[in-house]
Amino acid sequence: MRAVLLGAPGAGKGTQSKILCERFGMAHIATGDLFRAEIGKKSPLGLKVQDYVQKGMLVPDSVVIELVASKLDASAQGWLLDGFPRTHEQAQALDKWLEQNGQKIDAVVLLSMKEDVVVRRLTSRRTCGGCGAVFNLDTRPPREEGKCDACGAALTQRNDDTEATVRKRLMVFNDLTAPLISYYKHAHDFYDVDGGRSPEAVTKELEGILGAAVKGA
Ligand code: AMP
Repeated sequence: MRAVLLGAPGAGKGTQSKILCERFGMAHIATGDLFRAEIGKKSPLGLKVQDYVQKGMLVPDSVVIELVASKLDASAQGWLLDGFPRTHEQAQALDKWLEQNGQKIDAVVLLSMKEDVVVRRLTSRRTCGGCGAVFNLDTRPPREEGKCDACGAALTQRNDDTEATVRKRLMVFNDLTAPLISYYKHAHDFYDVDGGRSPEAVTKELEGILGAAVKGA
C-alpha cells in the first residue's frame, strides 16, 4: 500500500496516519515529525531546518526531498506520506522516485477542513513531551491539566501552533500545497474526505478507502 494524505495543517493527518499505518502495516513517513525529532536531537539537519519549522515556513525542497527519498528507499512494506509533498517540485520528485522504482501510488486522500476550524484545533492542541500523545483542550482534554493521560509527562504546545504562526502556515498551504490537489485529482485515485467530523468517523471512511485500494491493487 502506498498512499498520500494531503490536507491543511490541523486537518488531522497525523492522528489518522498513525491509526492507518498500524491497521495496514505500512511505514508512516511524516516529514514534520521527522524534522521535529532532528531539531530535538540538535543534529546538523535539525539545526538546518529549525528556523523554517518554528516560523511556519517550508523547509527548502532539496532538503525535504533527500530526506523523504531515503525513507522511501527503506520502506519496502509500503508507506503513507503525511505532510509530503507540499510543493509542485516535491510532487515531481515523488513521481520520479516512483518511476525509477517501478511503483505507483494506490490512493491520494485529501482531508478537507474549514479554515476557522483548523485555527481553533491547532491553537488548542497540546502534545506530550514524553510519548508524543496528542490532546486537544476543547475536544480531547487530558484528565489532569497539563499532564499526559498515558505517561504522566508534561504537555506542551508546539511552538508553531500559536495563532500567528498557524495563520502563516495556512497561507503557505493555500499558496503552495493546495495547487497540488488538482495535480493529483487528474493523475491518481483521488478521494476527498471531510476532516471536520469526529476522528472516529474520519478513520472509518479512510479505512474503507484504503481497504478497497488494497483489494484493487
Ligand atoms: P507538520 O507537522 O506537517 O505541520 O510540519 C511542520 C513544519 O515542518 C512545517 O510547517 C514546515 O516548516 C516543515 N515541513 C514539514 N513537511 C514539509 C515539507 N514537505 N516541505 C517543506 N517543509 C515541511
